[in-house]
Amino acid sequence: MSLRLRLVLAAAYVFVVVVIALEVPLAVTIERQRISDFRPSVLGPAALTASTIADEVARISAAATGTKPEPPHPTMSIEQAVRHYAASSGSRVVVVDQPGRVIYDNAGEATPGTLYATSRRPEFGLALAGQVYSAERYSTSLGQQLLIVAVPVIYDGRTVGAVRFTAELGAVEAEVHRTWFRMGLVGLVVIVAGLVMAWFLATSIARPVDRLEEAAVRLGQGDLDARASPEGPGELVTLARSFNRMADALAANIAAQRDFIANASHQLRTPLTGLRLRLEALEAEGGEAGEEARRATAEIDRLATLVQELLLLASASEAGAAGQRVDLAGLAQDAADRWRPQAERAGSAIRLVTGPPAAVWADRRDLEHVLDNLLENAIRYAPPGSEVTIEAGRRDSGGMLVVADSGRGIPEAERERIFERFFRGETGRRTGPGTGLGLAIAAELVRKWGGELRLAEGPGTRFEAMFPRPTLS
Ligand code: ADP
Repeated sequence: MSLRLRLVLAAAYVFVVVVIALEVPLAVTIERQRISDFRPSVLGPAALTASTIADEVARISAAATGTKPEPPHPTMSIEQAVRHYAASSGSRVVVVDQPGRVIYDNAGEATPGTLYATSRRPEFGLALAGQVYSAERYSTSLGQQLLIVAVPVIYDGRTVGAVRFTAELGAVEAEVHRTWFRMGLVGLVVIVAGLVMAWFLATSIARPVDRLEEAAVRLGQGDLDARASPEGPGELVTLARSFNRMADALAANIAAQRDFIANASHQLRTPLTGLRLRLEALEAEGGEAGEEARRATAEIDRLATLVQELLLLASASEAGAAGQRVDLAGLAQDAADRWRPQAERAGSAIRLVTGPPAAVWADRRDLEHVLDNLLENAIRYAPPGSEVTIEAGRRDSGGMLVVADSGRGIPEAERERIFERFFRGETGRRTGPGTGLGLAIAAELVRKWGGELRLAEGPGTRFEAMFPRPTLS
Protein backbone atom coordinates (compact mmCIF):
# COMPACT_ATOMS: atom_id res chain seq x y z
CA MET A 1 0.00 0.00 0.00
CA SER A 2 1.42 3.37 -0.99
CA LEU A 3 2.34 5.99 1.60
CA ARG A 4 -0.27 8.37 0.13
CA LEU A 5 -3.06 5.78 0.45
CA ARG A 6 -2.03 4.94 4.01
CA LEU A 7 -2.16 8.59 5.06
CA VAL A 8 -5.55 9.11 3.40
CA LEU A 9 -6.96 5.96 5.01
CA ALA A 10 -5.71 7.07 8.42
CA ALA A 11 -7.39 10.46 7.91
CA ALA A 12 -10.60 8.76 6.69
CA TYR A 13 -10.67 6.64 9.85
CA VAL A 14 -10.33 9.73 12.06
CA PHE A 15 -12.99 11.67 10.13
CA VAL A 16 -15.51 8.82 10.20
CA VAL A 17 -14.99 8.22 13.93
CA VAL A 18 -15.31 11.95 14.74
CA VAL A 19 -18.42 12.39 12.57
CA ILE A 20 -20.08 9.30 14.11
CA ALA A 21 -19.11 10.33 17.65
CA LEU A 22 -20.66 13.77 17.11
CA GLU A 23 -23.68 12.95 15.00
CA VAL A 24 -25.10 9.83 16.66
CA PRO A 25 -25.71 11.42 20.11
CA LEU A 26 -26.98 14.55 18.34
CA ALA A 27 -29.43 12.50 16.27
CA VAL A 28 -30.76 10.73 19.38
CA THR A 29 -31.14 14.06 21.21
CA ILE A 30 -32.94 15.61 18.23
CA GLU A 31 -35.43 12.71 18.14
CA ARG A 32 -36.14 13.01 21.87
CA GLN A 33 -36.43 16.78 21.62
CA ARG A 34 -38.92 16.67 18.75
CA ILE A 35 -41.15 14.20 20.61
CA SER A 36 -41.04 16.16 23.85
CA ASP A 37 -41.82 19.32 21.84
CA PHE A 38 -44.82 17.54 20.34
CA ARG A 39 -46.16 16.24 23.69
CA PRO A 40 -47.55 19.60 24.95
CA SER A 41 -49.37 20.06 21.65
CA VAL A 42 -51.40 16.94 22.53
CA LEU A 43 -51.42 17.22 26.30
CA GLY A 44 -52.71 20.83 26.25
CA PRO A 45 -55.76 20.20 24.04
CA ALA A 46 -56.49 16.99 26.01
CA ALA A 47 -56.57 18.96 29.30
CA LEU A 48 -58.67 21.73 27.73
CA THR A 49 -61.10 19.18 26.30
CA ALA A 50 -61.37 17.49 29.69
CA SER A 51 -62.19 20.76 31.45
CA THR A 52 -64.61 21.91 28.72
CA ILE A 53 -66.63 18.70 28.72
CA ALA A 54 -66.42 18.10 32.48
CA ASP A 55 -70.00 19.12 33.32
CA GLU A 56 -71.50 17.11 30.48
CA VAL A 57 -69.43 14.04 31.32
CA ALA A 58 -70.46 14.50 34.97
CA ARG A 59 -74.08 14.59 33.90
CA ILE A 60 -73.73 11.46 31.78
CA SER A 61 -71.75 9.65 34.49
CA ALA A 62 -74.34 10.62 37.06
CA ALA A 63 -77.11 9.40 34.81
CA ALA A 64 -75.23 6.17 34.29
CA THR A 65 -74.65 5.56 37.96
CA GLY A 66 -77.90 7.26 39.06
CA THR A 67 -76.22 8.84 42.05
CA LYS A 68 -76.22 12.62 41.55
CA PRO A 69 -78.52 15.26 40.18
CA GLU A 70 -77.86 16.49 36.65
CA PRO A 71 -75.44 19.41 36.34
CA PRO A 72 -76.39 22.47 34.26
CA HIS A 73 -76.44 22.12 30.47
CA PRO A 74 -73.01 22.71 28.91
CA THR A 75 -72.20 25.58 26.58
CA MET A 76 -70.28 23.29 24.18
CA SER A 77 -71.22 19.69 23.42
CA ILE A 78 -68.60 16.93 23.78
CA GLU A 79 -68.46 16.49 20.03
CA GLN A 80 -67.91 20.21 19.41
CA ALA A 81 -65.24 20.42 22.10
CA VAL A 82 -63.41 17.40 20.76
CA ARG A 83 -63.56 18.67 17.19
CA HIS A 84 -62.33 22.05 18.37
CA TYR A 85 -59.37 20.85 20.39
CA ALA A 86 -58.36 17.74 18.47
CA ALA A 87 -58.08 19.52 15.13
CA SER A 88 -54.61 20.97 15.73
CA SER A 89 -52.94 17.61 16.58
CA GLY A 90 -55.17 15.44 14.38
CA SER A 91 -55.64 13.08 17.32
CA ARG A 92 -58.15 10.34 17.79
CA VAL A 93 -60.14 11.14 20.92
CA VAL A 94 -62.08 8.75 23.10
CA VAL A 95 -64.13 10.01 26.07
CA VAL A 96 -65.26 7.53 28.73
CA ASP A 97 -67.50 7.94 31.76
CA GLN A 98 -66.63 7.05 35.34
CA PRO A 99 -67.27 3.30 34.93
CA GLY A 100 -65.10 3.37 31.78
CA ARG A 101 -67.77 3.14 29.12
CA VAL A 102 -67.47 5.00 25.85
CA ILE A 103 -69.25 8.32 25.70
CA TYR A 104 -67.72 9.54 22.48
CA ASP A 105 -65.13 8.41 19.92
CA ASN A 106 -64.27 10.89 17.16
CA ALA A 107 -63.12 8.02 14.95
CA GLY A 108 -66.51 6.35 15.36
CA GLU A 109 -64.87 2.98 16.00
CA ALA A 110 -65.86 2.38 19.63
CA THR A 111 -69.58 1.98 20.18
CA PRO A 112 -70.90 4.35 22.86
CA GLY A 113 -71.87 2.51 26.01
CA THR A 114 -69.34 -0.32 25.65
CA LEU A 115 -66.75 -0.82 28.32
CA TYR A 116 -63.53 0.68 27.03
CA ALA A 117 -61.33 1.10 30.11
CA THR A 118 -60.06 -2.45 30.13
CA SER A 119 -56.69 -3.79 31.23
CA ARG A 120 -55.55 -3.66 27.59
CA ARG A 121 -55.87 0.12 27.86
CA PRO A 122 -54.14 0.90 31.19
CA GLU A 123 -54.09 4.65 30.39
CA PHE A 124 -57.84 4.83 31.17
CA GLY A 125 -57.36 3.11 34.51
CA LEU A 126 -54.77 5.72 35.51
CA ALA A 127 -56.79 8.67 34.20
CA LEU A 128 -59.97 7.44 35.93
CA ALA A 129 -57.89 7.22 39.10
CA GLY A 130 -57.16 10.95 38.66
CA GLN A 131 -53.70 10.76 37.10
CA VAL A 132 -52.38 12.15 33.83
CA TYR A 133 -50.92 9.50 31.52
CA SER A 134 -48.53 10.20 28.67
CA ALA A 135 -46.48 7.59 26.76
CA GLU A 136 -45.34 6.46 23.34
CA ARG A 137 -46.39 3.11 21.99
CA TYR A 138 -45.84 1.34 18.70
CA SER A 139 -49.03 0.45 16.90
CA THR A 140 -48.68 -2.66 14.80
CA SER A 141 -51.99 -2.01 13.08
CA LEU A 142 -50.96 1.52 12.04
CA GLY A 143 -47.33 0.59 11.64
CA GLN A 144 -46.05 3.66 13.46
CA GLN A 145 -45.30 5.21 16.86
CA LEU A 146 -48.22 6.74 18.71
CA LEU A 147 -48.28 9.32 21.47
CA ILE A 148 -51.01 8.41 23.97
CA VAL A 149 -52.20 10.98 26.44
CA ALA A 150 -55.03 10.30 28.91
CA VAL A 151 -56.33 12.92 31.36
CA PRO A 152 -59.04 12.66 34.01
CA VAL A 153 -62.25 14.65 33.59
CA ILE A 154 -62.74 16.32 36.94
CA TYR A 155 -66.03 17.86 37.99
CA ASP A 156 -66.59 19.30 41.36
CA GLY A 157 -63.38 17.77 42.68
CA ARG A 158 -64.32 14.28 41.53
CA THR A 159 -63.08 12.26 38.57
CA VAL A 160 -66.18 11.74 36.47
CA GLY A 161 -64.55 10.32 33.37
CA ALA A 162 -61.45 10.35 31.19
CA VAL A 163 -60.33 11.67 27.84
CA ARG A 164 -57.70 9.91 25.73
CA PHE A 165 -55.91 11.63 22.87
CA THR A 166 -53.98 9.35 20.51
CA ALA A 167 -51.69 11.24 18.12
CA GLU A 168 -49.68 9.64 15.37
CA LEU A 169 -45.97 10.36 15.63
CA GLY A 170 -45.41 9.50 11.95
CA ALA A 171 -45.17 13.12 10.86
CA VAL A 172 -42.84 13.95 13.75
CA GLU A 173 -40.70 10.93 12.98
CA ALA A 174 -40.62 11.77 9.28
CA GLU A 175 -39.39 15.23 10.25
CA VAL A 176 -36.77 13.62 12.53
CA HIS A 177 -35.71 11.34 9.70
CA ARG A 178 -35.41 14.29 7.35
CA THR A 179 -33.19 16.01 9.92
CA TRP A 180 -31.12 12.84 10.25
CA PHE A 181 -30.76 12.69 6.48
CA ARG A 182 -29.59 16.31 6.35
CA MET A 183 -27.16 15.60 9.19
CA GLY A 184 -25.90 12.54 7.31
CA LEU A 185 -25.35 14.67 4.20
CA VAL A 186 -23.47 17.28 6.19
CA GLY A 187 -21.36 14.48 7.76
CA LEU A 188 -20.63 13.06 4.31
CA VAL A 189 -19.65 16.45 2.93
CA VAL A 190 -17.37 16.98 5.95
CA ILE A 191 -15.75 13.55 5.40
CA VAL A 192 -15.31 14.09 1.64
CA ALA A 193 -13.91 17.60 2.15
CA GLY A 194 -11.59 16.22 4.86
CA LEU A 195 -10.45 13.43 2.57
CA VAL A 196 -9.71 15.86 -0.25
CA MET A 197 -7.62 17.94 2.15
CA ALA A 198 -5.96 14.76 3.44
CA TRP A 199 -5.19 13.74 -0.15
CA PHE A 200 -3.45 17.06 -0.82
CA LEU A 201 -1.56 16.79 2.46
CA ALA A 202 -0.58 13.16 1.75
CA THR A 203 0.53 14.16 -1.74
CA SER A 204 2.70 16.94 -0.34
CA ILE A 205 4.38 14.33 1.88
CA ALA A 206 4.47 11.49 -0.64
CA ARG A 207 5.77 13.55 -3.56
CA PRO A 208 9.18 14.29 -2.00
CA VAL A 209 9.42 10.62 -0.99
CA ASP A 210 8.67 9.59 -4.59
CA ARG A 211 11.26 12.05 -5.90
CA LEU A 212 13.80 10.73 -3.40
CA GLU A 213 13.09 7.18 -4.53
CA GLU A 214 13.41 8.22 -8.18
CA ALA A 215 16.80 9.77 -7.43
CA ALA A 216 17.90 6.60 -5.56
CA VAL A 217 16.81 4.39 -8.49
CA ARG A 218 18.65 6.61 -11.00
CA LEU A 219 21.76 6.58 -8.83
CA GLY A 220 21.53 2.79 -8.54
CA GLN A 221 21.32 2.57 -12.33
CA GLY A 222 24.53 4.49 -12.67
CA ASP A 223 23.36 8.08 -13.12
CA LEU A 224 25.90 9.68 -10.79
CA ASP A 225 24.36 13.12 -11.33
CA ALA A 226 21.04 12.00 -9.78
CA ARG A 227 20.21 14.16 -6.75
CA ALA A 228 17.10 14.57 -4.59
CA SER A 229 15.55 18.02 -4.27
CA PRO A 230 15.22 18.92 -0.56
CA GLU A 231 11.48 19.64 -0.24
CA GLY A 232 8.49 18.72 1.89
CA PRO A 233 8.44 18.19 5.67
CA GLY A 234 11.62 18.91 7.65
CA GLU A 235 12.53 15.24 8.14
CA LEU A 236 12.36 14.60 4.39
CA VAL A 237 14.46 17.69 3.66
CA THR A 238 17.11 16.34 6.05
CA LEU A 239 16.87 12.91 4.45
CA ALA A 240 17.20 14.38 0.94
CA ARG A 241 20.27 16.40 2.02
CA SER A 242 21.86 13.29 3.58
CA PHE A 243 21.09 11.34 0.41
CA ASN A 244 22.71 14.05 -1.71
CA ARG A 245 25.82 14.07 0.51
CA MET A 246 26.03 10.29 0.15
CA ALA A 247 25.60 10.57 -3.65
CA ASP A 248 28.37 13.23 -3.77
CA ALA A 249 30.71 10.97 -1.80
CA LEU A 250 29.84 7.97 -3.98
CA ALA A 251 30.37 9.94 -7.22
CA ALA A 252 33.72 11.24 -5.93
CA ASN A 253 34.83 7.69 -4.96
CA ILE A 254 33.83 6.25 -8.29
CA ALA A 255 35.56 9.06 -10.17
CA ALA A 256 38.72 8.45 -8.12
CA GLN A 257 38.49 4.70 -8.81
CA ARG A 258 38.02 5.33 -12.54
CA ASP A 259 40.98 7.70 -12.61
CA PHE A 260 43.11 5.17 -10.79
CA ILE A 261 42.24 2.38 -13.20
CA ALA A 262 42.82 4.62 -16.23
CA ASN A 263 46.16 5.84 -14.85
CA ALA A 264 47.30 2.40 -13.76
CA SER A 265 46.40 0.99 -17.16
CA HIS A 266 48.35 3.72 -18.93
CA GLN A 267 51.34 3.60 -16.56
CA LEU A 268 51.64 -0.18 -16.80
CA ARG A 269 51.17 -0.45 -20.53
CA THR A 270 53.94 2.00 -21.45
CA PRO A 271 56.86 0.20 -19.71
CA LEU A 272 55.53 -3.18 -20.87
CA THR A 273 55.54 -2.00 -24.48
CA GLY A 274 59.04 -0.57 -24.04
CA LEU A 275 60.29 -3.81 -22.53
CA ARG A 276 58.76 -5.85 -25.33
CA LEU A 277 60.43 -3.68 -28.00
CA ARG A 278 63.84 -4.08 -26.36
CA LEU A 279 63.37 -7.85 -26.07
CA GLU A 280 62.31 -8.04 -29.70
CA ALA A 281 65.48 -6.15 -30.64
CA LEU A 282 67.58 -8.62 -28.62
CA GLU A 283 65.70 -11.55 -30.17
CA ALA A 284 66.51 -10.20 -33.65
CA GLU A 285 70.23 -10.38 -32.82
CA GLY A 286 69.86 -14.18 -32.49
CA GLY A 287 72.15 -16.50 -30.57
CA GLU A 288 71.61 -17.68 -27.01
CA ALA A 289 70.68 -14.21 -25.80
CA GLY A 290 68.15 -13.98 -28.63
CA GLU A 291 66.58 -17.28 -27.56
CA GLU A 292 66.37 -16.04 -23.94
CA ALA A 293 64.81 -12.81 -25.21
CA ARG A 294 62.18 -14.80 -27.12
CA ARG A 295 61.21 -16.67 -23.93
CA ALA A 296 61.17 -13.41 -22.01
CA THR A 297 58.84 -11.91 -24.69
CA ALA A 298 56.38 -14.77 -24.10
CA GLU A 299 56.50 -13.97 -20.36
CA ILE A 300 55.96 -10.28 -21.12
CA ASP A 301 52.91 -11.24 -23.21
CA ARG A 302 51.52 -13.20 -20.28
CA LEU A 303 52.24 -10.31 -17.94
CA ALA A 304 50.48 -7.88 -20.30
CA THR A 305 47.42 -10.17 -20.45
CA LEU A 306 47.45 -10.48 -16.67
CA VAL A 307 47.67 -6.72 -16.19
CA GLN A 308 44.90 -6.20 -18.70
CA GLU A 309 42.64 -8.74 -17.00
CA LEU A 310 43.35 -7.43 -13.51
CA LEU A 311 42.39 -3.94 -14.60
CA LEU A 312 39.29 -5.34 -16.27
CA LEU A 313 38.36 -7.15 -13.06
CA ALA A 314 38.80 -3.91 -11.09
CA SER A 315 36.59 -1.97 -13.47
CA ALA A 316 34.00 -4.81 -13.57
CA SER A 317 33.34 -4.47 -9.86
CA GLU A 318 33.09 -0.70 -10.21
CA ALA A 319 29.62 0.61 -9.40
CA GLY A 320 27.76 3.38 -11.11
CA ALA A 321 27.99 2.45 -14.77
CA ALA A 322 25.17 3.64 -17.00
CA GLY A 323 23.36 0.89 -18.87
CA GLN A 324 21.26 0.50 -21.96
CA ARG A 325 18.71 -1.97 -23.28
CA VAL A 326 20.61 -4.88 -24.82
CA ASP A 327 18.88 -7.37 -27.09
CA LEU A 328 20.23 -10.81 -26.17
CA ALA A 329 19.51 -12.53 -29.48
CA GLY A 330 21.47 -9.87 -31.42
CA LEU A 331 24.31 -10.08 -28.92
CA ALA A 332 24.49 -13.88 -29.27
CA GLN A 333 24.36 -13.68 -33.07
CA ASP A 334 27.29 -11.20 -33.15
CA ALA A 335 29.32 -13.39 -30.76
CA ALA A 336 28.67 -16.47 -32.91
CA ASP A 337 29.87 -14.58 -36.02
CA ARG A 338 32.91 -13.27 -34.17
CA TRP A 339 34.06 -16.67 -32.87
CA ARG A 340 33.08 -18.96 -35.76
CA PRO A 341 36.45 -18.69 -37.63
CA GLN A 342 38.44 -19.47 -34.47
CA ALA A 343 36.10 -22.37 -33.60
CA GLU A 344 36.56 -23.80 -37.07
CA ARG A 345 40.34 -23.55 -36.75
CA ALA A 346 40.06 -25.52 -33.49
CA GLY A 347 37.85 -28.11 -35.20
CA SER A 348 34.68 -27.16 -33.28
CA ALA A 349 31.30 -25.98 -34.53
CA ILE A 350 29.26 -23.10 -33.16
CA ARG A 351 25.48 -23.50 -32.92
CA LEU A 352 23.18 -20.62 -32.10
CA VAL A 353 19.82 -21.17 -30.35
CA THR A 354 17.56 -18.17 -29.80
CA GLY A 355 14.37 -18.34 -27.78
CA PRO A 356 11.66 -15.70 -27.33
CA PRO A 357 12.99 -12.12 -27.69
CA ALA A 358 14.58 -10.89 -24.48
CA ALA A 359 16.40 -7.74 -23.48
CA VAL A 360 18.37 -6.85 -20.38
CA TRP A 361 19.64 -3.61 -18.89
CA ALA A 362 23.42 -3.61 -19.18
CA ASP A 363 26.46 -2.23 -20.98
CA ARG A 364 26.67 -4.07 -24.29
CA ARG A 365 30.49 -4.25 -24.15
CA ASP A 366 30.32 -5.96 -20.74
CA LEU A 367 28.01 -8.66 -22.07
CA GLU A 368 30.19 -9.09 -25.17
CA HIS A 369 33.12 -9.59 -22.84
CA VAL A 370 31.23 -12.25 -20.87
CA LEU A 371 30.39 -14.15 -24.07
CA ASP A 372 33.97 -13.77 -25.34
CA ASN A 373 35.45 -15.23 -22.15
CA LEU A 374 33.03 -18.16 -22.08
CA LEU A 375 33.39 -18.89 -25.82
CA GLU A 376 37.17 -18.63 -25.70
CA ASN A 377 37.22 -21.20 -22.87
CA ALA A 378 34.74 -23.50 -24.65
CA ILE A 379 36.74 -23.46 -27.92
CA ARG A 380 40.02 -23.81 -26.09
CA TYR A 381 39.15 -26.50 -23.51
CA ALA A 382 36.63 -28.67 -25.40
CA PRO A 383 38.38 -31.25 -27.63
CA PRO A 384 38.30 -30.85 -31.44
CA GLY A 385 35.03 -32.03 -32.97
CA SER A 386 33.00 -30.58 -30.09
CA GLU A 387 29.93 -28.50 -30.53
CA VAL A 388 29.74 -25.10 -28.82
CA THR A 389 26.21 -23.82 -28.28
CA ILE A 390 25.20 -20.21 -27.60
CA GLU A 391 21.66 -19.78 -26.29
CA ALA A 392 19.83 -16.49 -25.81
CA GLY A 393 16.29 -16.16 -24.55
CA ARG A 394 14.14 -15.85 -21.50
CA ARG A 395 13.83 -17.77 -18.28
CA ASP A 396 11.10 -16.94 -15.78
CA SER A 397 10.62 -13.22 -16.36
CA GLY A 398 14.30 -12.40 -16.95
CA GLY A 399 16.88 -12.75 -19.70
CA MET A 400 19.17 -15.74 -20.17
CA LEU A 401 22.52 -16.25 -21.95
CA VAL A 402 24.10 -19.71 -22.12
CA VAL A 403 27.41 -20.97 -23.46
CA ALA A 404 27.69 -24.75 -23.46
CA ASP A 405 30.10 -27.20 -25.04
CA SER A 406 30.05 -30.93 -25.59
CA GLY A 407 33.52 -31.39 -24.07
CA ARG A 408 34.50 -33.38 -21.00
CA GLY A 409 33.04 -30.85 -18.59
CA ILE A 410 34.53 -29.59 -15.36
CA PRO A 411 35.59 -32.22 -12.79
CA GLU A 412 33.32 -32.47 -9.75
CA ALA A 413 36.13 -31.47 -7.36
CA GLU A 414 36.74 -28.19 -9.27
CA ARG A 415 33.13 -27.04 -9.67
CA GLU A 416 33.00 -25.16 -6.37
CA ARG A 417 36.17 -23.15 -7.01
CA ILE A 418 35.72 -22.46 -10.69
CA PHE A 419 34.81 -18.74 -10.25
CA GLU A 420 37.69 -18.04 -7.83
CA ARG A 421 40.27 -15.52 -8.97
CA PHE A 422 43.47 -17.12 -10.32
CA PHE A 423 41.97 -20.61 -10.08
CA ARG A 424 43.03 -22.81 -12.96
CA GLY A 425 41.55 -26.25 -13.33
CA GLU A 426 43.26 -29.42 -14.41
CA THR A 427 42.05 -28.92 -18.01
CA GLY A 428 43.36 -25.36 -18.02
CA ARG A 429 46.79 -26.32 -16.70
CA ARG A 430 47.04 -29.17 -19.18
CA THR A 431 46.02 -27.04 -22.15
CA GLY A 432 48.50 -24.17 -21.70
CA PRO A 433 49.12 -20.82 -20.10
CA GLY A 434 46.28 -18.75 -18.69
CA THR A 435 45.55 -16.33 -15.88
CA GLY A 436 42.66 -18.07 -14.13
CA LEU A 437 40.79 -14.74 -14.22
CA GLY A 438 38.45 -15.23 -17.21
CA LEU A 439 35.52 -16.77 -15.31
CA ALA A 440 35.97 -14.44 -12.32
CA ILE A 441 35.73 -11.44 -14.69
CA ALA A 442 32.67 -12.91 -16.46
CA ALA A 443 30.90 -13.56 -13.15
CA GLU A 444 31.72 -10.04 -11.94
CA LEU A 445 30.44 -8.44 -15.16
CA VAL A 446 27.15 -10.41 -14.96
CA ARG A 447 26.76 -9.45 -11.28
CA LYS A 448 27.42 -5.80 -12.17
CA TRP A 449 24.10 -5.84 -14.10
CA GLY A 450 22.10 -7.59 -11.42
CA GLY A 451 22.49 -11.07 -12.89
CA GLU A 452 24.17 -14.29 -11.83
CA LEU A 453 26.58 -16.54 -13.70
CA ARG A 454 26.45 -20.18 -12.70
CA LEU A 455 27.84 -23.48 -13.78
CA ALA A 456 24.94 -25.75 -14.69
CA GLU A 457 24.86 -29.52 -14.86
CA GLY A 458 26.38 -31.07 -18.03
CA PRO A 459 26.76 -33.05 -20.27
CA GLY A 460 29.89 -31.11 -21.12
CA THR A 461 30.34 -27.64 -19.67
CA ARG A 462 27.36 -25.32 -19.44
CA PHE A 463 27.57 -21.75 -18.11
CA GLU A 464 24.27 -19.91 -17.63
CA ALA A 465 23.97 -16.15 -17.08
CA MET A 466 20.58 -15.13 -15.66
CA PHE A 467 19.47 -11.50 -15.66
CA PRO A 468 16.53 -9.83 -14.01
CA ARG A 469 13.80 -8.20 -16.09
CA PRO A 470 14.91 -4.77 -17.35
CA THR A 471 13.58 -2.06 -15.09
CA LEU A 472 13.88 0.60 -17.78
CA SER A 473 13.09 0.21 -21.42
P1 ADP B 1 41.81 -19.66 -17.57
O1 ADP B 1 41.07 -20.01 -18.79
O2 ADP B 1 42.78 -18.57 -17.75
O3 ADP B 1 42.41 -20.85 -16.89
P2 ADP B 1 39.25 -19.19 -16.46
O4 ADP B 1 38.81 -18.48 -15.25
O5 ADP B 1 38.66 -18.74 -17.73
O6 ADP B 1 40.81 -19.09 -16.51
O7 ADP B 1 38.92 -20.71 -16.27
C1 ADP B 1 39.25 -21.37 -15.06
C2 ADP B 1 39.35 -22.85 -15.27
O8 ADP B 1 38.05 -23.40 -15.54
C3 ADP B 1 40.17 -23.27 -16.46
O9 ADP B 1 41.51 -23.33 -16.10
C4 ADP B 1 39.59 -24.64 -16.82
O10 ADP B 1 40.20 -25.66 -16.04
C5 ADP B 1 38.14 -24.52 -16.39
N1 ADP B 1 37.25 -24.28 -17.54
C6 ADP B 1 36.72 -23.10 -17.92
N2 ADP B 1 35.93 -23.27 -19.00
C7 ADP B 1 35.94 -24.57 -19.32
C8 ADP B 1 35.33 -25.37 -20.35
N3 ADP B 1 34.51 -24.82 -21.23
N4 ADP B 1 35.55 -26.68 -20.34
C9 ADP B 1 36.38 -27.24 -19.44
N5 ADP B 1 37.00 -26.56 -18.45
C10 ADP B 1 36.79 -25.22 -18.39
